[in-house]
Amino acid sequence: MSTKTLKSPDTELLSALVKNQSLQIKEISVEGFERVLHIVDKKAGLNAIIAIHNTQLGPALGGTRIYPYASFEDALTDACRLAEGMTYKSSVSEVGFGGGKSVIIADPKKDKTPELLRAFGAAVDLLGGSYICAEDAGSTAADMHIVRQSTKYVVGLAHSKSSGDPSPFTTWGVLRGIQSVAKRLYGSDSLEGKRIAIQGLGSVGGRLAELLFWQGAQLILSDIDTAKTEALAARYNAKAVPPSEILGVECDILAPCAMGAVINDTTLPKLRCKAIAGAANNQLLSNIHADRLKAMGILYAPDFVINAGGLLNVAAELDDDGYSPTGPRYKIHHLYDTLLAIYDIAERNGESTHKAALSLAEYRLKYSIGKRTFPPVFHHNPE
Ligand code: NAD
Repeated sequence: MSTKTLKSPDTELLSALVKNQSLQIKEISVEGFERVLHIVDKKAGLNAIIAIHNTQLGPALGGTRIYPYASFEDALTDACRLAEGMTYKSSVSEVGFGGGKSVIIADPKKDKTPELLRAFGAAVDLLGGSYICAEDAGSTAADMHIVRQSTKYVVGLAHSKSSGDPSPFTTWGVLRGIQSVAKRLYGSDSLEGKRIAIQGLGSVGGRLAELLFWQGAQLILSDIDTAKTEALAARYNAKAVPPSEILGVECDILAPCAMGAVINDTTLPKLRCKAIAGAANNQLLSNIHADRLKAMGILYAPDFVINAGGLLNVAAELDDDGYSPTGPRYKIHHLYDTLLAIYDIAERNGESTHKAALSLAEYRLKYSIGKRTFPPVFHHNPE
């Protein structure tokens, strides 16, 4: 990914900025991306990036991550990787949206203020709907409700005309993905007695532990919050292991549900699982790690397919008819079938499952399959 800073933002953005003196926006040129913006509002303490990767199929939709990145470069890399992943996720899910993501460089525990969130919302608003934000790691549905004070281009709100927290929907999709892996490996989607290791016990991983418990799985759990790990391990009769050990535990299925890039040169030799199927975005450090997993005989459920439940749910609130959870429920349930089809395609072509999923996404982008034909409707913001 090569980046260079442009001298001036485009004229449309400049004229919008005249109305909002405190926001400073600098356009950054990133190869392969439609638009990447660095946004600063010193008064509000905002230092953020909005990355729009591709809007071929519809406006870019993607969460807002709040994280204390060590450097601006780290934040830019994360925003761009996540935005690109959203393009593929949206394409495979056929939601009629494109790929985008935003990151706010801040500690969500200390720095998150209503003023900061409103300033971020003002920046999103300047983009006129080409980017739609939502909660992500470090932000919540309640935070998005504050962002809404400055823009309507936000989904997944704690609001009666919105879809709320996407995590339960993501979790169900991940469970269905884990069942698809069991079906592929063992000929049955039963998880009875299967050893499943979960890294990260947050909104998705914590819920996943509960669902898997009821499916009869033997759980191995880990979170950097050891009190949380021990509490959930006691509740679900699971083994608790420290974060440094979870990727190397012997198990049937490893479910990464924390941060990205967990499959890399350092962790690959430690893996003792038969499959990887979890919620985290960008689990592979690079595409080459998908080939290495294939060579090791480890089945990989591509992250941007298995974790699409939350996207499918938030996208539904922008339908003409308004939000109903039954449409996304049906689609999320069938992520199981999409994943089984991807494993078959990969086997037929002698390629990794990641490559097979990527080819499917790119084919749909190339031929505009699933392109949005009507504008999204923001029911939480009647005009
Ligand atoms: P979360 O912030 O609620 O939970 C993440 C958990 O991981 C936290 O409990 C944290 O303490 C733990 N963690 C962080 N680093 C760890 C480490 N090294 N080892 C063990 N635990 C660690 O986030 P979430 O909403 O549960 O999302 C989890 C992942 O799934 C993220 O990568 C997110 O981008 C992705 N995802 C989430 C959704 C959703 O609907 N929430 C949708 C798609 C993808």
